[in-house]
Amino acid sequence: MDFLPIFLNLKGRSCAVVGGGEVASRKVSLLLNAGAQVTIHAPELSETIRHWVSEGKVRHNPQAFSAEALDGCALAIAATDDRAVNRQVSDAAKARGIPVNVVDQPDLCTFIMPSIIDRSPVVVAVSTGGASPVLARLIRARLETVIPAGYGRLAQLVAAFRDKVKQHFKYPARRRRFWEDVLQGQIAELVYSGQEAAAHKALQEKIDATDGEKIPVGVVYLIGGGPGDPDLLTFRALRLMQEADVVVYDRLVSPAVLELVRRDAERIYAGKERDHHAIPQEDINHLLVRLAKEGKRVVRLKGGDPFIFGRGGEEIDTLAAEGVPFQVVPGITAAAGCAAYSGIPLTHRDYAHSVVFVTGHLQDGTVNLNWPALAQPDQTVVFYMGLHGVGIICRELIRHGLAPSTSAALVQQGTTRNQRVLTGDLESLPSIVEQAQVKAPTLIIVGDVVRLRERLKWFEPTVAN
Ligand code: SAH
Repeated sequence: MDFLPIFLNLKGRSCAVVGGGEVASRKVSLLLNAGAQVTIHAPELSETIRHWVSEGKVRHNPQAFSAEALDGCALAIAATDDRAVNRQVSDAAKARGIPVNVVDQPDLCTFIMPSIIDRSPVVVAVSTGGASPVLARLIRARLETVIPAGYGRLAQLVAAFRDKVKQHFKYPARRRRFWEDVLQGQIAELVYSGQEAAAHKALQEKIDATDGEKIPVGVVYLIGGGPGDPDLLTFRALRLMQEADVVVYDRLVSPAVLELVRRDAERIYAGKERDHHAIPQEDINHLLVRLAKEGKRVVRLKGGDPFIFGRGGEEIDTLAAEGVPFQVVPGITAAAGCAAYSGIPLTHRDYAHSVVFVTGHLQDGTVNLNWPALAQPDQTVVFYMGLHGVGIICRELIRHGLAPSTSAALVQQGTTRNQRVLTGDLESLPSIVEQAQVKAPTLIIVGDVVRLRERLKWFEPTVAN
C-alpha cells in the first residue's frame, strides 16, 4: 500500500487553497462540505468562487502567495497552473509539517485526493495511488450503482440507536448479528423508501422483542477456498467468509482468497505443511468446537475442496459429535483447477474414459496404492501430494504396465499468477522435478490427455517485474 487512507476532521480548521480557477473551486467545494474554513490565495477568481466570497463562505487574499499564508493551517492545496508557485506552496507546507496536495503533480504532494462517493455519514473513497484517476472514477461509478442513496440515512438511524443496542446485548456476537439483520432487512427498506419514523418504531420494537442476554449459538462453515485464484470461489463461500467472526485457515489457502474474509475477523493459522502441522489435527477439531461454542461464526477455510484430501470429514465428525451446527461449501479441487488452467482436459473421448484422484503422500518412505488399478489404459491419474514420492510413483506405474513414454505433467501453484506447468513422461518426470526445482503445492497428472496441452493451453501468466 503506497498511501494510508484516512478520514480527516477539518471542522472549523483553517485550510489554504492557492489558485482561484475551476480546479481550485472543486477542491474548495470539498473542503467546505467537510466544514473547513477556507482561505483562497489568488489574484483572480472564477465565477463560482467569487460568488462564495460574496456570500462570506470563503475568505479571499488577492496578494501573491507567500509562505507565511500557511501558518496555522491544517491543510494546503495548490491548484495553480504556475509550477513555480505550486512548488513554493509544497515547500512551505512541508517546512511547516502541513499536509499538502498539488493538483496533477504527485511528486509535490504529501497526500492525494481520492475519488469519493458521498452518502454522508457514509463516505467511500477510492484511490489508485495516483496511477490512474480514470480507473478510480470508473470504480466509483460502479460503486455508485450498488450503494443505495439511502445509506446515509440508514447510518444515521444506526447512530441514533447505537448506545441503546450496545447496552441491550450482553454478547458482541449477538449484537453484530442483530445489526446485520436490521441493515439487510425490512427496517433498512423502510429507510430507503423514506419512512424513517416507521423505521425508528420498528427498530425499537425489534430491540424490545429480542432477548439481549441469550448466549449466541455459533456455527462452523467448512469452506473450500479453491486452488488459488480468488475468482474461483463460489458466491456462497464469499458470502459466508464475509460474515465470519473468526477464520481458521490452512497453508494452501492463497493470500488473495484470505484477503476476502471479513476484515475484522480473527485469523488463526492452522498450518498443514508436509510432516509438521502448525496445530495437530485433533487440536484443530477441538479448536473449531470451542470457537463455535463461544457463539462465534467460524469459517474453516481450506485449499481446494474440503472433502478431497482435506480431512474435512474428520473435522465435521467432531462437530457433529459435539452438536455444533455446521455447513459445508464445496470448492474447486486442485485437479479441476489445475487441469482447466493448464489446458489438460481430465477426460476425453479419444484418450481417457475415467479419471482417478489419488494421494501420493509418502507413508513410511513409500506410497501404498493399488498400482494395477492405476496403471490402466484410457485413464487419467491425478496425484495430490505426490512431489516427494514422484520417483516411486513413476517407477511403480511403469512396473505395472504403463509405457515409460506415457505423458505426464507437473502443475505447480495452479491457477495463480505463479503457475508453472512442466510436461514430460513417466521416465523423465523425476529428473524434471529435480532440475526445475519444482516446489509444493504441485499436482501430477498422468495420461495421454497431457499431450492436448500443446494445443489447448491458454493461461500463461507473466509476472511483471
Ligand atoms: N483439498 C485440496 C487438496 C489438499 S492436498 C483440494 O481439493 O485441492 C494438498 C495437495 O493438493 C498438494 O500437495 C498439491 O498436490 C495439491 N494442490 C493444491 N492446490 C494446488 C495448486 N494450486 N496447484 C497445484 N497443486 C495443488
